[in-house]
Amino acid sequence: MGLNVPDNLARELALANRILYDQQIVDGLGHVSLRHPDDPSLFLLSCSRAPALVRPEDIVCYRADGSALDTEAPRPYLERFIHAEIYRARPDVQSVVHSHSLCVIPFACVQQPLRPIFHMAGFLGEGSAHFEIRDAAGDTDMLISNAYLGEALARSLGSRSCVLMRGHGSTVVGTSLRQGVYRAIYAETNARLQLSAQSLGDPVYLNPREAQLASDANDGQIDRSWNLWLQRLGPLDFRA
Ligand code: MN
Repeated sequence: MGLNVPDNLARELALANRILYDQQIVDGLGHVSLRHPDDPSLFLLSCSRAPALVRPEDIVCYRADGSALDTEAPRPYLERFIHAEIYRARPDVQSVVHSHSLCVIPFACVQQPLRPIFHMAGFLGEGSAHFEIRDAAGDTDMLISNAYLGEALARSLGSRSCVLMRGHGSTVVGTSLRQGVYRAIYAETNARLQLSAQSLGDPVYLNPREAQLASDANDGQIDRSWNLWLQRLGPLDFRA
């Protein structure tokens, strides 16, 4: 295992990667991270590998500036600054998931927030935040490849749980790894349902109080979904 990467967390993070792929939230790209429980200035994230292929030994411990603790660590993700800067800006956040999941992207392009269409998406009660990279840096390759852009993204996220990134994808945060994975999955589902409801008429969304109550109720049941998602993975090429 890598320098300062606890075995149990490396396994859990590898499983989170596999689940996000199986649930079609990430493909060859996209990533999920976890704040280090022993040192809040550090976070755990895979080296540059497709999420479906991530093994516990691929998990690397990074500092807040995006540098790896282990000088021998393999090549990192270009967009690790998404994670680094959100952890720096949001002490409450314990996990970050960045993806290009398909149904969310149109909302980002028309600057329309995701709003909670059903109880599973109560975490969207405040609506999603919007990030326009052009405002931060003009014309770019759209990637959050440095601390400056990561900081701008974290500022756009503010206190919310989800930020849509125009022309790119989205990032969700959670207070645990499993909650982060849950939110990434249900942000995508909500986008699909919101689009479908809007084609029928003017949707009634959960109001802020309903959203909060639903979110609190769901948080107690995330392990049930997690176990199902895990079961779908079948035999793994590492010990779960
Ligand atoms: Mn990306």
